Amino acid sequence: MYFSLFLDKNAPFFFMAKSFTIMVHLGGLCELGEIRLEGITKKFDDFVAVDNVNMIIEDGKLFSFLGPSGCGKTTILRMIAGFETPTEGRIYIDGLDITDLSPYKRPVNTIFQNYSLFPHMRIFDNVAFGLKIKNLPKNEIIDRVERILNIVQMFDQKHKYPNQISGGQKQRIAIARALVNEPKVLLLDEPVSALDLKLRQKMIIELMNIHDLFSITFIYVTHDQGEAMSLSDKIAIMNHGKIVQIGLPDDIYERPNSIFSAHFIGDTNLISGTVKAIHEDYIEVETGFSQNNEKILLDSTYTQDVSIGEKITLSLRPEKIAVSRRSPGSQSDFNILKGQIEDILYLGTHTQYIIKVGDQLFKVFSQHKKVYFDDTALDWEENVFLYWHDTDSFVIKEENFEKQELGIGSQELRDKRIEANGKRQKGVK
Ligand code: ATP
Repeated sequence: MYFSLFLDKNAPFFFMAKSFTIMVHLGGLCELGEIRLEGITKKFDDFVAVDNVNMIIEDGKLFSFLGPSGCGKTTILRMIAGFETPTEGRIYIDGLDITDLSPYKRPVNTIFQNYSLFPHMRIFDNVAFGLKIKNLPKNEIIDRVERILNIVQMFDQKHKYPNQISGGQKQRIAIARALVNEPKVLLLDEPVSALDLKLRQKMIIELMNIHDLFSITFIYVTHDQGEAMSLSDKIAIMNHGKIVQIGLPDDIYERPNSIFSAHFIGDTNLISGTVKAIHEDYIEVETGFSQNNEKILLDSTYTQDVSIGEKITLSLRPEKIAVSRRSPGSQSDFNILKGQIEDILYLGTHTQYIIKVGDQLFKVFSQHKKVYFDDTALDWEENVFLYWHDTDSFVIKEENFEKQELGIGSQELRDKRIEANGKRQKGVK
């Protein structure tokens, strides 16, 4: 099959550097790979590294496993690649049971963190290696290797050795070496984690574009939330060997289904409460914290079934809260609270405020915009209003959570910090 590709000269990534049309013989590359994991468990002796995972990764998607160190992401990847055997369960690619197939017979290629290029081989031979092992005719090997090197814009570097090219170029070669085998699925185990921030960002854009170009399934493992959010079509959040949530990046961020997801992706304020009233599109929640010894009612959205009297947790992202000396006035769909500034931290792109309302601490991120109500910067211990739209606080159906340490330390430490600063550090306008 032939595939025609027009590349725009203004596009930012490497293979779009020049305007040209190429004809790419994609062969098996266009075949997609849907992966089904059915009851997959992996034990190392008594330790359960992956715990009864059931899921489908749709063909052609760029899918990420995201979770803290040791949660079982790499073990899942290694089982799909065939480097580990599941203790229980079956793995299917496009409906074919591959659980007992040896790694080299699977339509899968893996790119490891360090790219594992052979240092003594030139770039061309690194890419050709898999095809030579398969004993393909010499002409076919040359055709396929040159074609893929053209696509990743490394053709003119083909005589170099790996130590003569940059980290980003090594990644391109590792991808070329995997794609030249025409896999249905490409497995990527933290492929950019060894690179510096700027190069990482560039490589992520390149990976996304290579994925769009080839349309095969990419499975990406990372513990970096930003990376997963920016490149994935879908994300699976893992913890202790289990899948906690699967969804689109923005769904997971805007509507985490658990306290773990809410905390793992981004930052959040958790508020415990009891459902007091249920309306058509919002609920009233009596919170666990008080202001002037009165319980506070908040309006919030809910997507899950809740009942009156049920104890729940509200999640509210710090950037969704506005803070000001002035009240926004009565707004029927705003929650408005009065609080006092406990701590101010300047973070460059924004200022972080810790604000006390009754006995609850709120973390608030405020961007440095001149268009807010206050003419001068907010100061420590000032009385302020904090307010947010009621669709921004939402229900998580878990009752108990560990109170988050908000990093302001004891009163004594805080006072010392103010004293040591001489002048109090203020928020920035
Ligand atoms: P990281 O982000 O740190 O790479 P991960 O989520 O990829 O972590 P895994 O490498 O899948 O985690 O490991 C999951 C758990 O299984 C860890 O506790 C790890 O120590 C354990 N584990 C992995 N491989 C083995 C092994 N061969 N023998 C014993 N325990 C193992």
